[in-house]
Amino acid sequence: MDCIFCKIVADEIPCKKAYEDGDVLAFHDIYPQAPVHILVIPKAHTAAGAGEITAANSAVAGKCFEVIARLANELGLADGFRVVTNNGPAAGQTVPHLHFHLLAGKELSLAMG
Ligand code: 5GP
Ligand code: ZN
Repeated sequence: MDCIFCKIVADEIPCKKAYEDGDVLAFHDIYPQAPVHILVIPKAHTAAGAGEITAANSAVAGKCFEVIARLANELGLADGFRVVTNNGPAAGQTVPHLHFHLLAGKELSLAMG
């Protein structure tokens, strides 16, 4: 499959890793939109986006949120952080491999849409 994030998981495309275990990889976004902009992804390509989360792959989506909480603690983001997931082209999704953006490090816009 021609998926950028699967290639990152397979070490075919380099990335700056923030966290890794057997199921989840977190790495810094190549075009950061905030001082902290980390992508948290399941290693397995089990869903193109949040709209494909089912009982079969929701456990790893939950693990992504465990990693988000861990990174927020490690990086000292107690002042606030935001988690975003874009689903589909009208929401601006460009990579169809489930991922969560962890954004922090400045006053984030209050606009949600
Ligand atoms: P989406 O637009 O699908 O919600 O988010 C995809 C994100 O992946 C974008 O913020 C984009 O900057 C990031 N991205 C795309 N290609 C690469 C890459 O090769 N390396 C890294 N680190 N980030 C990437
Ligand atoms: Zn993929």
